Amino acid sequence: MHTHPQQPTLIVDADDTLWENNIFYEQCIAEFKALMEAQGFDGEEAVHTLELVERERVPVVGYSPAEFARSLQIAYQRLCQRYSTPVQEELNAALWEIGLRVGNYPIILLDGVEETLGLLRPHFRLLLLTKGDPQTQGDKLARSGLAHFFDAVHIVKEKHTGVFKELIERYGLDPAHTWMVGDSPRSDILPALAAGIGAIHVPHPNTWKLELEVEAEPKGAIVLNRFSELAHLFQVAVAWAGLTDSEGEGACAPALGESSSL
Ligand SMILES: [Mg+2]
Repeated sequence: MHTHPQQPTLIVDADDTLWENNIFYEQCIAEFKALMEAQGFDGEEAVHTLELVERERVPVVGYSPAEFARSLQIAYQRLCQRYSTPVQEELNAALWEIGLRVGNYPIILLDGVEETLGLLRPHFRLLLLTKGDPQTQGDKLARSGLAHFFDAVHIVKEKHTGVFKELIERYGLDPAHTWMVGDSPRSDILPALAAGIGAIHVPHPNTWKLELEVEAEPKGAIVLNRFSELAHLFQVAVAWAGLTDSEGEGACAPALGESSSL
């Protein structure tokens, strides 16, 4: 019998879970669309072309702002090729500037995030897990003012199942008392469930389209309307952790184990 049950762990996504992210990409794409329309291209076709370029390039080059800016330029160049019009250098330069803006957008925390992290902090090990360019993601975290809530920060290229398995191994996590919290079915929920830990889906209305594309619907995830509902969800577990700390019993039947199988 464990007399000191392991501290439960929350692995938390950043973009569109803690702060707004994709709305800024959408603003850039709207500007790209307007510029392409001003050149006489069809706006919808331009956006679709950009999407194809992103699908091809992201798996190869990752998510840095410079690569996003480059994708805007490549999409423009493809349109030019398709309609046999010359590429204008000043437009190329304008697209570069537009794309780079995703690297330093203002950090707008989602509702209740800071308070909720403060409530969870005494009871959970909190790990931040975000994918993307290390410098960009690290800078956003620093600007968010949330870094002090986290025991560790992991910035990875992609959040595949192996990443979660590595975290389980590295921290000796107990899968029954570990949950991933995030907005993306593709990057947060499915790989966490595949790795055998719990998953808490907090959908965001502006989650990037590609993050919603999954081969199978996630089964067994807890779904919340907003991040702040974590405090309510874990109320029972928090009480349970306090009880077992003093009595050294009950480590095998946390109330949350039941709710995570709903
Ligand atoms: Mg996210």
